[in-house]
Amino acid sequence: MGADYTFYPTTNVLESKEETEFRSEVRQWVLEKVYPEADRVEHEKLFPRHLFKEMGDRGYLRVLFPKSIGGTEKGIKYGIILADEISWCMRALTAALDCSIFCSIPIMRFGSEEQIKKYLPGIISGESIGAIGMTEPGAGSDLIGSMRTVAKKDANGDYIINGEKRFITNGSEADIISLWALTDTSVAGHVGMSCFIVEKDFEGLEIVRDFNLMGVYGLKNTYMRLNNLKVPKKNLLGKEGMGTKILLDELDSERTLAAAGSCGLARRAIEIAAQHANKRVQFKKPIRYFEKISFDIADMAIKLEAARNLTYQAACTIDAGLDASKIGAIAKVFASDIAFECTHKALQMCGGLGYMKGEWDEASGKYLLPNGSQAYVTERIFRGARLSSIVAGTNEILRYLIQREVFNEMQLRKPAESDNWGD
Ligand SMILES: Cc1cc2nc3c(=O)[nH]c(=O)nc-3n(C[C@H](O)[C@H](O)[C@H](O)COP(=O)(O)OP(=O)(O)OC[C@H]3O[C@@H](n4cnc5c(N)ncnc54)[C@H](O)[C@@H]3O)c2cc1C
Repeated sequence: MGADYTFYPTTNVLESKEETEFRSEVRQWVLEKVYPEADRVEHEKLFPRHLFKEMGDRGYLRVLFPKSIGGTEKGIKYGIILADEISWCMRALTAALDCSIFCSIPIMRFGSEEQIKKYLPGIISGESIGAIGMTEPGAGSDLIGSMRTVAKKDANGDYIINGEKRFITNGSEADIISLWALTDTSVAGHVGMSCFIVEKDFEGLEIVRDFNLMGVYGLKNTYMRLNNLKVPKKNLLGKEGMGTKILLDELDSERTLAAAGSCGLARRAIEIAAQHANKRVQFKKPIRYFEKISFDIADMAIKLEAARNLTYQAACTIDAGLDASKIGAIAKVFASDIAFECTHKALQMCGGLGYMKGEWDEASGKYLLPNGSQAYVTERIFRGARLSSIVAGTNEILRYLIQREVFNEMQLRKPAESDNWGD
């Protein structure tokens, strides 16, 4: 990023003055502390744990939590600002942060006073990191119907959990995991599932290894086994059988924050694309003056603005305490689709330079091109954006949920027979 780098505006009438000030503050921090480390995190696949502590010290992690436990209760709109600004330059940090937050939301909403006091202050201060343990080798999209991890009570009423969890973000780094398991296998998963708070040192938690990811380097994504994992009964979240309720409650926030992360990536893409198209001359003029290039820039802007508005709408719905299941899914699907499209377009618009990762330069901590200039991050954000349509519910599953809501809301039931004419 050269000294003359310019930003795509983030002005939006849905953002209050106070929220815009928060965005400016976060951006300043991102530019001073996160951006300088982004290439090293990518190169060394370094988990950015120390940045959690920084965020905690600055009070950024307090925004979603109630005042009674040291939060500022600012709401998910502040969360999306954080996710958007950080994702702009370090997708791994946003993804790790999101999962730490998703781990703590169930504790905040369903935890006992003791659980809240024990586990949430560490998350808010950035000293603890959370993870969510849902997915299993046999249970991905059909999580509730196919879950095999089972929690059985022992003689003391404590739980012994057996099973496997895979693709768990922060798994090998997490201090606590909100983990789902079946407490009643005689009934359907949606009534037999419960949620537990698992500490990293609990006996029987085996962190097998991290996966090697296509992108989002620095993110730790883990396969773990639960071998007679001992979980005290006081670590059951809510009551037995509440697992599905807890899961569904958390998902709207998860999808909205994921959407915001995608917006950050798309914004970075349009910034790189526009600046490159403005300076690169071919056929005697900057390439931005070719219609195809200019229309691509327009399409990127149209889609980014639409994605940001949907994300705001989802956040406002959650903050208003309303059901955000449809709008959260819509925002996530749209934002992740357009982040992929925008990063793809940006890479293409930068031509050969868009494809270059650059050579790692230890002295500067940057990826450099042969002339010493900094490589574009187009290939990195392209790989990063690809993840977004898989996590927080794949876009196929979310499209299924969205259409189901449409038919339900319009009270359109399956007809007894075909109606072959118009109104
Ligand atoms: C980097 C990364 C981080 C992750 N972090 C976490 C985490 O922190 N915690 C956690 O619990 N999980 C996590 N996951 C898991 C993620 O939520 C799952 O990968 C996702 O839910 C899909 O499950 P699956 O991979 O088993 O794919 P599958 O469910 O096997 O799906 C394969 C394909 O089939 C499609 N498909 C499935 N069913 C249908 C259907 N009915 N109609 C149409 N298409 C369908 C899917 O959309 C997908 O394209 C993570 C995954 C990744 C890659």
